[in-house]
Amino acid sequence: MRVTTDRDRCVGSGQCAMQSPEVFDQDDDGLVVVLQEKPGAELLEDVHRAADLCPSQSIRVTG
Ligand code: SF4
Repeated sequence: MRVTTDRDRCVGSGQCAMQSPEVFDQDDDGLVVVLQEKPGAELLEDVHRAADLCPSQSIRVTG
């Protein structure tokens, strides 16, 4: 699994950091920061949920 984000689209809602705090955080402006670009399989469900809940569809999960 590989996680990428589009910070230009991010609206800083924080859904990702709430759903998957091991993988996502927010910077001082509230924009998404990826903590792990290749998280383990045990985090797959949380990461997909975060991507689904992101209101600006800024999160991409591949692999
Ligand atoms: S859920 Fe989407 S819009 Fe909200 S902080 Fe995360 S990446 Fe940005």
